[in-house]
Amino acid sequence: MTIYEDARSGKITDEMKKIAEVEGVEPEFVRRGLAKGRIVLLRNVLRADKVKVVAVGEGMRTKVNANIGTSNTLIDLNMEIEKARIAKKYGADTVMDLSTGGNLDVIRREIMKAAEPLPLGTVPIYQAFMDVTMKRGAGLYMTEDDILNTIEKHLKDGVDFMTLHAALTKELASRAVRSERAEPIVSRGGSILAAWMLEHDKENPLYEHFDYVLEMFKEYDAVISLGDSLRPGALEDAHDEYHLSELMVNARLVKRAREHGVQVMLEGPGHVPLDRVVADVKLAKRLTDGAPYYILGPLVTDIAAGYDHIAGAIGGALAAAHGADFLCYVTPAEHLNLPNPEQVREGIIAFRIAAHAADIVKYPDRAMKVDIEMGRCRGRLDWECMLSLAIDPEKAREIRNQYGPTPLKSCNMCGSLCVFLLLDKWRRATRAPSPEDARPTTSTP
Ligand code: SF4
Repeated sequence: MTIYEDARSGKITDEMKKIAEVEGVEPEFVRRGLAKGRIVLLRNVLRADKVKVVAVGEGMRTKVNANIGTSNTLIDLNMEIEKARIAKKYGADTVMDLSTGGNLDVIRREIMKAAEPLPLGTVPIYQAFMDVTMKRGAGLYMTEDDILNTIEKHLKDGVDFMTLHAALTKELASRAVRSERAEPIVSRGGSILAAWMLEHDKENPLYEHFDYVLEMFKEYDAVISLGDSLRPGALEDAHDEYHLSELMVNARLVKRAREHGVQVMLEGPGHVPLDRVVADVKLAKRLTDGAPYYILGPLVTDIAAGYDHIAGAIGGALAAAHGADFLCYVTPAEHLNLPNPEQVREGIIAFRIAAHAADIVKYPDRAMKVDIEMGRCRGRLDWECMLSLAIDPEKAREIRNQYGPTPLKSCNMCGSLCVFLLLDKWRRATRAPSPEDARPTTSTP
């Protein structure tokens, strides 16, 4: 039985108890969320003892995914392994291997190992296309079996969740490609499938054989992440007929997955103007009866190249505060190049900030404790405490020390005019003494 079926039968399993413990909620709350399909657990049963507990959905901490992987013009396995380690070190919750260059089986297995215990996601259509390109000279010679067999191979390897662009029907792809959209299809997987459907005049195999796909996922109790091939790649395409038409198809597929007892989540934007981010989340949740919503960005402006992690984190914070459950990071390299390891780090930190800011709104009791502690540390100029609580302690320490030892207990911003020093004499009279009060006035943590 899948965890979804267990939950529906009323059973509280050890895994549900673990999720409850990790998230700080009651096991019955987790069971109910799983039973309604509003929570998913990102793990393939083959890796249940290898990956950490990462549950996504209603009442769960907002999670952050880091996309890594080779391209077919830049194949550097060591760099991708380093990115997987960075994802682990800087607090991503999951990693997706989006590799399209090199020996994709070897690369996926190495990235999976390096990222453990983080759950691993993939987009198997990339490998189906690239393997056929290598074997038969062009990816468009790919058959339906090539696609389905690749999915099965990833499941057998223990991949925990996969993006499947099942809602891009032939009719939708054909209309979108010929449309006046600024960027007709910006999803790589969606473009591959659209090209294949148009070339062969055939329906999307993931849509046509969705029941077979569900059977495969059920066997491994892995999670289907329904891709959004027609997501807006530009603000002017957000919520147009193509974007919304695909969302409607995806909503029906969510229902079918639940009927089969398969865990499923929905993917969303893209580029969306700030004033439509909340509506986007509400609509997706309404149409899918609260399916976990996995959202890219959303980027709230199209002109932030070089800083798209910031444009995406702004949209991500708003989306998550209003119900999005899982943020796919964007790096400063978005729209420009394959990210390097440092850009992966910047993307992860930006989206962890967005996720945490959203959780303060969603679950203040659980999420805000650390902020309250930080405020107190700042109020008493406890630098070690401040640096240890920072979301990126290394960067905070680096900046703290950038001019060498500080002459005062404050920092070089205000020096002796530090508000905490100026008022210290009077504050001491009204608050309990702290060990920090005994510290020397010169400090370089
Ligand atoms: S010197 Fe200014 S910036 Fe630095 S800790 Fe004091 S108030 Fe804050």
